[in-house]
Amino acid sequence: MADDKLIKALQDIVGAKGVISEKDRLEDYSHDEFSLPTIKNLPQVAVRPNNADDISKILKLANKENIPVTPRGGGTGLCGGCVPAKGGILILFDNLNKVLEVDKENLMVVVEAGVILKDLYACVEKEGLFFPPHPGDDTATIGGVVATNAGGSRAVKHGTVRNFIRGLEVVLPQGDIINIGGKFIKNSTGFSLLHLLIGSEGTLGIITKATISLVAPPKETSTLVVPYNTIHDAIKTVPTIMKNNALPLAIEFIEADAIELTEKFTGKDWPVKNANPVRHYSANGSASGVSNGTKEYLLIIVDGEKDEVERISEAIADMCLKNNAKDVFVADGKTKQKEILEFRSQMYEAMKPNCIETLDIVVPISEVVNHVEVVHKIEKEHKIWLPTYGHAGDGNAHTHIMKFGFKDGRPDFSVKKDWQQVYPVVRDLIHEDAKKRGGMVSGEHGIGLVKKEYLADFLDEKQIGFMKSIKGIVDPKGILNPDKIF
Ligand SMILES: Cc1cc2nc3c(=O)[nH]c(=O)nc-3n(C[C@H](O)[C@H](O)[C@H](O)COP(=O)(O)OP(=O)(O)OC[C@H]3O[C@@H](n4cnc5c(N)ncnc54)[C@H](O)[C@@H]3O)c2cc1C
Repeated sequence: MADDKLIKALQDIVGAKGVISEKDRLEDYSHDEFSLPTIKNLPQVAVRPNNADDISKILKLANKENIPVTPRGGGTGLCGGCVPAKGGILILFDNLNKVLEVDKENLMVVVEAGVILKDLYACVEKEGLFFPPHPGDDTATIGGVVATNAGGSRAVKHGTVRNFIRGLEVVLPQGDIINIGGKFIKNSTGFSLLHLLIGSEGTLGIITKATISLVAPPKETSTLVVPYNTIHDAIKTVPTIMKNNALPLAIEFIEADAIELTEKFTGKDWPVKNANPVRHYSANGSASGVSNGTKEYLLIIVDGEKDEVERISEAIADMCLKNNAKDVFVADGKTKQKEILEFRSQMYEAMKPNCIETLDIVVPISEVVNHVEVVHKIEKEHKIWLPTYGHAGDGNAHTHIMKFGFKDGRPDFSVKKDWQQVYPVVRDLIHEDAKKRGGMVSGEHGIGLVKKEYLADFLDEKQIGFMKSIKGIVDPKGILNPDKIF
């Protein structure tokens, strides 16, 4: 459909202000957080619908005229999921940004799809409730986190976003609006369309509203930072913690080189460099802070009632020390914990200017240690920095493929790699290792455009065929988020 005709038809649906067609304004919507420009594509036009009815009308028009439609939430995705790969209409959710109800009796919140995580956390916290999933970028929208089944560091205790979604309003590709689920926990009434839609990456329907379960907030939390000499000892501690029924809110592993880069980037010290003012357990009684030469860390968050948090923190500290931890630093004050977590969340920003891709491998938790060791072998062999950190408690390892190598054994920005050649090679090797260990290509980010080429390595033909036939029935013209996943 010609630009002017399409713009006029969309203006008739959403109003003149809700249609964006100027090329310079569309540029922002041609990509997500994936770094390489190779995936960029401009939409023909972007629209801001006001409700599900507007989206229904847009999809009916798109079906009639064979125009691709792509939903875009916060654009924080890391695999090109919201990139309008075939142009066409891009749906924005800025006008669907209301928290419709906080139901304190049923511990549920009903929100429109464009509400961002930051606003959801603030709203439910004000009502004395808690939404546990915590994907790292809180400008992500509810529609986006449902469509990718996002995870985050707290998934080890609470599971992914899927575990909290009870109901959805969805506009199907041909324009029908359906309401799935409701304010109940159990549901065995027919196939679970809810769970089919969650994680479908905007290819089966456009989410406009979600009913989400909440829990009571933890009374206390404490954050343990545990330095080790080797990644092996650090990650090996994780199954010990899990087996001993001391389920923390989060267990992350972090490497010292990534911490050093973040220190340079932020101009701030890693908050446990000096032991004060955190409590400290040590194998040798010294409390002088993290020593030089420490290579790897576990970062563990424990939550619950005050006594419980203290008891579990001590038990975990003991398990870590028995597994060769050098020290255990326990921050239980709010300020120090906030400082540690803020530093942790700056790591991505520190990597970003030189990071090609953040991988999202998931393996059984007992295999994380072996997988990470193989990543470091690949790093040495191909002389490209592959800092790896992630959610040790649920097997999700994020290797960052960087654009530079090493000088005197240390990562160094001045050593520019011929990364265009090395990148696909190390990427293949890391995915091969994940497959060998019974893992998957994505634990939480989704497939989008960027990880498509690995789908057939991890899923057999019959599973992919099953998925494609569902897509074919729901969206026979293939207009909704085309070119994704398969
Ligand atoms: C610094 C940083 C840290 C991150 N940490 C984590 C983490 O810990 N865990 C994690 O899981 N992810 C993480 N991510 C990735 C990202 O935040 C998540 O994938 C998030 O779910 C994307 O939400 P979004 O609103 O930005 O979606 P977008 O990027 O806009 O879109 C993602 C996908 O959802 C679809 N979509 C968006 N809205 C809708 C809708 N209303 N209906 C249907 N489909 C829709 C899009 O078409 C696309 O396929 C991180 C990203 C960054 C930049």
